[in-house]
Parts: sequence; structure tokens; C-alpha cells
Amino acid sequence: MPKNFHQHSLAILLTGFALVALPSISYATHSWSSYHWARTANPFTLKIGDNLTSADWKSKLAQASLDWNNPQIFQTTSPLTTTIVTGSAPGKLCSMKTGTVQVCNSTYGNNGWLGLASINITAGIHITKGSAKMNDTYFNMPKYNNTNERLHVMCQEIAHAFGLDHQSTNGSSQNTCMDYFSNTGVNAGSTLSTKPNAHDFEQLNIIYTHLDSTTAVATSALTASFAKQPDDTAEETDDPNKWGQLRSQSSNGRSSTYERFNKDGSQTLIHVYWTDEAVQNCPRCDHRYDH
Ligand SMILES: [Zn+2]
Ligand SMILES: [Zn+2]
Repeated sequence: MPKNFHQHSLAILLTGFALVALPSISYATHSWSSYHWARTANPFTLKIGDNLTSADWKSKLAQASLDWNNPQIFQTTSPLTTTIVTGSAPGKLCSMKTGTVQVCNSTYGNNGWLGLASINITAGIHITKGSAKMNDTYFNMPKYNNTNERLHVMCQEIAHAFGLDHQSTNGSSQNTCMDYFSNTGVNAGSTLSTKPNAHDFEQLNIIYTHLDSTTAVATSALTASFAKQPDDTAEETDDPNKWGQLRSQSSNGRSSTYERFNKDGSQTLIHVYWTDEAVQNCPRCDHRYDH
């Protein structure tokens, strides 16, 4: 067994240490539980499959990828680098593919969600694949159809597949795309919260402190990684009826997580970014069924 095989307890210890050492308690950790990609070395490169059907969305993904690859502006480093590759299938056919993060857009319908991030995990912690979906049913509407809102949601949804959670869900801006500031209405022209901030990179470094004895990250030719895997069957996570159980929801209702247990022993975890309109009547309801 390699020396640093799964030193999660060490990671937890270091997390505690970092918190004690930091000057402000506003720097709470925001990993999505302890979910992470198993890999044998840092830094590692994560392949982002581009299934986007418009030049505008492609430009947003390109920008988000550049921003997540640029910890240098905060005088720090990141354990992961993103690289954009050809996607698996566009639109409603788009689904998670082992070893990669697939990014898609489509008119997924008037279902209340603006953005949807899914990860599959094994052994309770290891991410094996992810997807980020943008719902054009809403992004085509004047309210959401602006550069800053699109960039905010793209930047956030792909980062859920890195293992990051939100820094804030109350609508305030922490000037990170991992918050729920709304770049709409009077704030449509604001570039606040459209990119990661220093704390996102700090958190990534904490999540990826330890190394694993195996890697789940696709490294070889994509055709190889796209060979059908046993767990590629339980997909189509844009169907709310297949999201499993509601696990948590922010008090304003805009952010929910769902969890589904799959037959092969893996779990699918889903972050839902609801529209303003989907939550305003009943912030505490399960928005899959209240509109
Ligand atoms: Zn691990
Ligand atoms: Zn989110």
C-alpha cells in the first residue's frame, strides 16, 4: 500500500488546522462532502466534454475553464487543470461518461431548474464521472439571457464536478461563482460572482491534499474512456423523477441536493440551481413537484 494511500484523516486534520490558522471564520470549508476524484498524482487534468450547441455557451465554457485554470491571479496553485475535449452527445442525449465531466445545454423544459450538476461516486467519496447541464428553456428568456448570469452558472456547475460546494446560498455575492448572487435584473451588468475566488482554490487544495492508489480520471484516448461502463445505464439525470431523495435545500429554496443509490452500488448526487420563479411560492417545498 502506498504511503499516502487515503490519508483522509490527515486531510481532515489539516482542514481543522487551516481553519484555526485563518483570520476569519467566514472561510468555512465548502467541499461537497468529501467527494473528490481518485488520482495518483497532483496536479491532475480533468477532461471537460464540450457538448454545447451554441457559440455563446462554448465561449462561456472556454472562459470558465480558463478561470479555473488560473489560480495564479491569487498567487496560489490548483491541484487540477481543466482541458476541453469533444463531448459525447449533444442536448438531451448528453450524459455522464466515466472519467470525464460532460457539459451540455438544451431546452430541457419548464421544469424549474436553471442549472444541474451531477456526479457519480463510488465507495461514498470517489467521483467517477460528472455532468453540468444548462437549461435553455430559461436561458433563452430575457431575464436569464445575459453574459454574466450564463458565466456564473457555467462556472459553478462544472466546479461541482470537481467536488466543490457553494460558499453561500443566500443570494449575497462573495465574488465567487460558487455563490447564489443573481446576475439578473438590476445586477445583469454586474460581473460579480462570475469567476472563482481565492478561497475556491484554497478549498480545492484541501480536498486534494491526499493521494489515492488508483485514478478515476480519464487519461487515455477518449474513445477508450467512452467505452460503455456498467454504471452508464442509470442516466438521464435531467429527469427529476430519477434524482432520488431530496437531501438538502437552502433556506431560500434556490439550491437543492438530491441523492440516488444505483444498482451497481454507486451513488448519483445532484446539485440543482432553481430559478427565482420556481421557488418563490414555497421555498421549503421539493420544487420537483410544486410547479
Ligand atoms: Zn481519495
Ligand atoms: Zn450549485
